[in-house]
Amino acid sequence: MQYYSTNGNTPKVSLQTAVVKGLAADRGLFMPERIPVLPRAFFNNIGEMSLQDISYVVANTLFGDDIEDTTLKDIVYDTLNFDIPLKYVTGNKYSLELFHGPTLAFKDVGARFMARLLGYFNKLSNGDGSMVNVLVATSGDTGSAVANGFLGVPGVRVFVLYPQGKVSRIQEAQFTTLGQNITAIEVNGTFDDCQALVKNAFMDEELNAHMKLTSANSINVARFLPQMFYYFYAYAQLLKRGQDVSNIVVSVPSGNFGNITAGLIGKRMGLPIKRFIAANNSNDIFFQYLKTGVYSPKSSIATIANAMDVGDPSNFARVLDLYRHSHDAVCAEISGYTYTDEQIAETVAETYKNTGYLLDPHGAVAYRSLEEGLEPEETGIFLETAHPAKFKATVEAVIGEEMDIPDKLAAFLNRDKKTVKMNSGFMSFKNYLMSV
Ligand SMILES: *Cc1c(COP(=O)(O)O)cnc(C)c1O
Repeated sequence: MQYYSTNGNTPKVSLQTAVVKGLAADRGLFMPERIPVLPRAFFNNIGEMSLQDISYVVANTLFGDDIEDTTLKDIVYDTLNFDIPLKYVTGNKYSLELFHGPTLAFKDVGARFMARLLGYFNKLSNGDGSMVNVLVATSGDTGSAVANGFLGVPGVRVFVLYPQGKVSRIQEAQFTTLGQNITAIEVNGTFDDCQALVKNAFMDEELNAHMKLTSANSINVARFLPQMFYYFYAYAQLLKRGQDVSNIVVSVPSGNFGNITAGLIGKRMGLPIKRFIAANNSNDIFFQYLKTGVYSPKSSIATIANAMDVGDPSNFARVLDLYRHSHDAVCAEISGYTYTDEQIAETVAETYKNTGYLLDPHGAVAYRSLEEGLEPEETGIFLETAHPAKFKATVEAVIGEEMDIPDKLAAFLNRDKKTVKMNSGFMSFKNYLMSV
């Protein structure tokens, strides 16, 4: 299968090139040239299948021509070595808990898959066993998902750059205590400085001649497409429970729109989902687009669901591409909601009080959208994208109770932090990379 650019000004490329390059040469996003449809029989039996088995069938349908069977199977099984359970909450609403991976957030799925695929392609393309070096700038959560996703993957080294003192202790612990092939670089500067260092490194000819550099950006097809696996598994779990699967609505807390776009492609592949909800915090660019047909990006606003603080969602180009730029077609399958911090906090508190289910601020946005948008004959699934303990201070303040930190998170806090300290000038970063 080949991948085209949403900007359409560059030739199609192989999966390998799309994964290694990340972004197309014309700055567009890669999309699969065909969206294959799964056979009906697959959906009849899906209720009896495991997450890994389902994901392998889906992955093989998409990537089967480009990756050898046993390798693809290993990648899928190794990526998904944790469960993604569907939990009943109340009424006709279910939570798809995407926080049982190593960093307790859904980005683990895409990061783990991409790491393994990149390791495989690197081995294929160079017999000399040279390293591929992943550079990633983070303001918090991306760094932890990428670092943990790539941890121990042969042939790949990761350098995580983060602004000193501007990341929470728990976030920092998740990428500064790993060791092995992961190096954390503590930059005396801002997140923008970290991003500038990474950008400069990709543009520096001498550095690129010296070492193979790549990014683990969330627009990469290897991070974005695997996110569709769990939509299929959510359907399977409803079926297994003997629930009505004829009117499924999936509500997705959305920032850069990678997660929801993966679901939309899953639907094109035949997954019987009736419609989607794109749930926004106060960063309501997509909501406004649905309302007016006009897309006007803005600067992002800080909210308590901060992983969704995006003013110009990078995957919007993919959504438009999927619906051939038809606003009507987009609106026929996706509706939108937007909530303020007060509303998000109120939803976390009320839901906890009334049902005992503790939402994180991101999941709360999606849950409230179902509360307001679900019809009685529909079955709602919202994606619970992170464990509430990742936002401990916010959640505790809202519910007025202390909460336990899961062992998996606490373990990071007990390990030693190890970083390389650096100023924000490019020369020191370049000299460092030339020397490692
Ligand atoms: C990244 C993130 C989101 C937003 O996902 P997109 O794919 O960018 O729309 C939602 N919730 C959490 C917890 C996240 O980390």
